[in-house]
Order: sequence, then C-alpha cells, then structure tokens
Amino acid sequence: MASARDDRGTEPSGPHGFTNDFDDFSESWFRIPRGPMPPQMAYEIVHEEAMLDGNARLNLATFVGTWMDEHANRLYAETFDKNMIDKDEYPKTAEIETRCWRILADLWHAPDPESTIGTSTIGSSEAAMLAGLALMRRWRARRREAGLPTDRPNLVMSAAVQVCWEKFCNYWDIEARLVPVSLAHPTFDGHDLASYVDENTIGVVAIMGVTYTGAYEPVADIARALDRIQEDTGLDVPVHVDGASGAMVAPFIQPEIAWDFQVDRVVSINTSGHKYGLVYPGLGWVVWRTRDHLPDDMIFSVSYLGGDMPTLALNFSRPGAQVLLQYYLFLRLGFEGYRAVHQHTQDVALFTSGEIARMGPFELVSDGGDIPVFAWRLKDGHTDNWTLYNLSDKLRARGWQVPAYPLPEDMQDVTVQRIVVRRGRRVAARDFLKDFRACVEYLDGLSGPIPVEREGSGFHH
Ligand SMILES: *Cc1c(COP(=O)(O)O)cnc(C)c1O
Repeated sequence: MASARDDRGTEPSGPHGFTNDFDDFSESWFRIPRGPMPPQMAYEIVHEEAMLDGNARLNLATFVGTWMDEHANRLYAETFDKNMIDKDEYPKTAEIETRCWRILADLWHAPDPESTIGTSTIGSSEAAMLAGLALMRRWRARRREAGLPTDRPNLVMSAAVQVCWEKFCNYWDIEARLVPVSLAHPTFDGHDLASYVDENTIGVVAIMGVTYTGAYEPVADIARALDRIQEDTGLDVPVHVDGASGAMVAPFIQPEIAWDFQVDRVVSINTSGHKYGLVYPGLGWVVWRTRDHLPDDMIFSVSYLGGDMPTLALNFSRPGAQVLLQYYLFLRLGFEGYRAVHQHTQDVALFTSGEIARMGPFELVSDGGDIPVFAWRLKDGHTDNWTLYNLSDKLRARGWQVPAYPLPEDMQDVTVQRIVVRRGRRVAARDFLKDFRACVEYLDGLSGPIPVEREGSGFHH
C-alpha cells in the first residue's frame, strides 16, 4: 500500500517540469510521506496550495496587516530566526521590545512610562488573557484580604466583544456578563451598568473599535458610570481597554478623545501590532497603567545579560521578528507618518461608505469615522429578493471578500456587511465600488427571490 508513495520523491516533478505527479497525493495528506522528495517538488506543492488562499488585496474582511515595504521585508528575512524568549541570546531584541511598549505607554498617556510594565504578545488575544488575569488576581487579592469569598468572579462587557474575551472567561472560569446592544444603545456606553456590576466584578472591558462596526465605545462615559456606582456602593471597578484596532489609530488621528490612561479608571490597554500597527501577523501588546497594576505573582524571571529580566507571556518560544518590524515602523513612519497613513485610510473609508450610502438600498450602521471600518444594512422594505448574504456571495465570485453577519445578541435580526479598510487606496476603492454596483444591479434586476440556502453566517470576527 505504501509502495506507491515509496518511490515518490525520487522522481523529479515530471519531464521538463511540464507535468507533475503529485495529483493523487491527497490520499496521504494526513500521513507523513515515507521518504523525502526533492525540495522543488515540496516547494511547488506548498506554494500552489498557498496560492489558492484568498488574494490579500481583495480581502476586505481582515484587520490584519498583509503588506509591508521592501526594507521591512528585508529585516524580516534577516531576523526570522530570533526567539523572543531568549533574552540572553538576543538582548537587543529584548531591549527593542521594551522600547516599543514604552513608546506605546507614552502614546497612551501612562503617568510614568519609564516605570510601568508591558510586554509584546502573539496578538491581542494573548494580551487580553494577561490583562484579564491581572484583573482577576487583583480582585482576588483584595477579596482575600477582606476575608471574602473569591469563587464567583465576573467580567462585564458588551455583547459585541471580540471572541477572545469569551475565551478568557471560559478558560479561566469567569462569568462573562454581556451587556446587550440595542437600537437605543447600539454601543456599550455605561447605560444601566449598575445592574451588571457587583462585588464579584473583576473589571469592565471597553472596546476601542468594536469588530462588528468599527465604533469606539465611550470609555470616559463608561468610567463615569463606574464613578457613580462607586459613590453609591463603594465598589471600585477597574476598566481594561481592548484597543486591538483603535489603540493604534486614535492616538494619531483622534487625539482629542480621552480613552486611554488619561481616564483614571483605565488600568490596562491592549493592542494588535498586526492590525493598525501595520506589522505582519503575530504581534500584540499590553501595557499596565503602573507597575502596581500587574500582580507580582504573574511575573517570571528569565536570565538576561547575567541578571534577570521579568517576563510574562503564555507562550515560551515565539518569533521576535515582528517586534523588530514594529520598531522599524515606529522609526520609519514616526508619529506624523502613522497619522498620515491612518488619515488617508480613514478618508478612503469615509469616501467608500459615503458612496455606498448614496446608492439607495443601504443604510450605514457606521461610516468609518472611528477606526476605518464601516458596516451597512439593507434598508427595510428595499427588497425581498435578496439579502446581504447574496451580495456577499456575488462579490466573492469577483474575488472580493466582504462578509455579511448578524449583529450580536438582542440585535441578531439585523444583518450587516462590513469593510475593513487597511492602508486604503482610492484606486482600489473605485475598483471595488464598480464591482459592488454591478452586483447590486444584478440582484436588483432579479424577478423573484433567491432561494434561501443558509441561515446566519459562520463568520468569525
Ligand atoms: C482582533 C481583535 C481581537 C483579537 O486580536 P488578535 O490580535 O487577532 O488576537 C480582540 N479584540 C478586538 C476588539 C479585536 O478587533
């Protein structure tokens, strides 16, 4: 049985490279081939399969960086072997990591960026786990000191949170208290917060850049609601800001919004370097207001230049190159560069959402004025013949990935479609709008309804 596979690998990939014989390989996808194969053949297999993935330029669904410049690519190729945990072998990478999160602490108005603490992570999800754990441990320590039970912690946040927070609550046995969004309160704004918060609340998560719509939750309003709760009940509940997208956007193009450590209740902030930090996938950051907001028992020591260096991370080994790429971009772009890139991206988002709004069938749920992400719904009564899922399919046939999905709990009857603009280019927006109009015209020209073939969407934010 294995014999067919046995001689494979000694064959070059067909005469003159015009044919190849790995077509029947699929039978053994799940078993390691018995013998080796020539590198160019293995390369071709992986290369061709990877080519079948979506085209990044046409992917309007992802938040994650898919392009860096030539110098970044060169740096990446020079540094892909660096391991973030080996502080002793790569002390410069470790030092640059520290510079990066201090730069973020400063951008986010930490009272003393020199003395606080932060770290890089593999993404915002890992950062959220660490920040959430810090909230839980500090709550637990306070409760233990007061001789109170610690068995029923809860975390309060919008029903529109990113899935990483539901994971955090699930993995660490914390009750997720989700505040529903509604037509009256489409974003979590602190309304009715007192009925969710109690003595077992470890913290409240506020999101700068909700994945569904791109909207900023009003961190200062949420903090004020918690101030009132403290006046009434004595409960002092901290806020963590999930700034996966927005914490890399707002400091540059919306400096007037107080959402960061300027708000006293904010104890920690996370962001994704690989979203609007503009780095390739595999990088997140978390920073605490002060060193005291991270419990000591979460910190481990690794050896570093003959001494010790504090680390906190779920992973041990992890690529260090992305950290260097983040630093490269901080230097390359500077504040002004990031501002210009993000402002341009936002202009393209506003232009595109404006064009979609003007077409007639659609109503914007958000316009891209917070993070450059916007969503729309079909106007009530526009048509019974098609839905945004059909439009999504039509666009997909032209290569564009623009997911449609239901809004969260309590608004799940509303279907929206969303575009994430990344390093926006007006030409790309025009190309897209041309195809978009053609798809809508086709659908509006139908004489009867498209049969329903699926309910909801498997799309994950
Ligand atoms: C993307 C996102 C996350 C998860 O970030 P990763 O870097 O993909 O792990 C968490 N929260 C929000 C608001 C996000 O947009």
